[in-house]
Amino acid sequence: MSKFWSPLVGELKPYVPGEQPKMRRLVKLNTNENPYGPSLRVLEAIRQQLDDGLRLYPDPESEQLREVVSRYYGVASDQVFVGNGSDEVLAHIFQGLLKQDKPVLFPDITYSFYPVYCSLYGVESRLVALTDTFEINPDDYLVPNGGVIFPNPNAPTGRYLPLSEVERIVAGNPDSVVVVDEAYVDFGGETAISLVDQYPNLLVTQTLSKARSLAGLRVGLAIGHRDLVEGLNRVKNSFNSYPLDRLAQVGAAAAFEDEAWFDQTRKRVMAERDRVTEAMTGMGFEVLPSTANFIFCQHRTMTGEDLAARLRERGIIVRHFSKPRIDNFLRITIGTAGQNDELLRALGELT
Ligand code: PMP
Repeated sequence: MSKFWSPLVGELKPYVPGEQPKMRRLVKLNTNENPYGPSLRVLEAIRQQLDDGLRLYPDPESEQLREVVSRYYGVASDQVFVGNGSDEVLAHIFQGLLKQDKPVLFPDITYSFYPVYCSLYGVESRLVALTDTFEINPDDYLVPNGGVIFPNPNAPTGRYLPLSEVERIVAGNPDSVVVVDEAYVDFGGETAISLVDQYPNLLVTQTLSKARSLAGLRVGLAIGHRDLVEGLNRVKNSFNSYPLDRLAQVGAAAAFEDEAWFDQTRKRVMAERDRVTEAMTGMGFEVLPSTANFIFCQHRTMTGEDLAARLRERGIIVRHFSKPRIDNFLRITIGTAGQNDELLRALGELT
């Protein structure tokens, strides 16, 4: 604790992101990136912008990008908010839309940034247990609260809550904002964006980091009622009025315009997920059903910690969490077919 820190900073336990190794040779299956790389249209749009754009400030409202997103999802452009990765969008949500006088509810196993934002913004929270099969039970969220947030599919479990069940949570909480964090929805889930016109308390967040393979560009978005979006704009304009640089704005817009690339890539990831799941089940792993671009699994006899260390010795990085209940599990990102073959070969030798 430095004498120059505020007491708040002294008490923060910041989010620790997954390792981003310097060595390129490693098989990197630890932070749920998409291994196939973005659409060529994205690269072309960025190249053009490089020629003439960097001298100038970007559009503070990211209007063109919001137009593209609004057409893509069939909502009005004032229902779309964009930010520097969905982490930043989530930060604004915690700061501006979740109530501070009643606890915000989220699952006890979930994205570990949520509790960090709670402590940063002084938002009270209450963890809600998952079921024995690591699922979200909507009934547990129908109690007084200052807001609800959960990823769908959940992370790191990969478990998906059908849209009708999501709707039960939204409909049962008319006085608080329900945030559905759809970072991984494109790998087989159904988006709740179709419900935003019906429910003024629903906010859906998405990212371009996963299915659109643009984790390095840092673009995330939120879609909901225009009052919620207006609230986020107030926070944004009190923090950084130019969150998206020019490259991010044009690159992200181009990503939504290449549906063929998008469809092909996510289908490849899903097919590989099924292949890896089947092979690992045959090796004595319990693999939770996943609707994401990763799997969550544990071995019958070997510990998660040991397996992660031994894979690492073979140049393969996966994610191990040392949290109660899941400390034996590994979260493994689905890589290219070649990377997955390497993973399966190594696991075959280890188990
Ligand atoms: N939500 C969830 C559930 C995630 O796993 C992640 C990625 N770590 C994010 C949000 C943030 O993604 P990004 O900031 O890259 O958009």
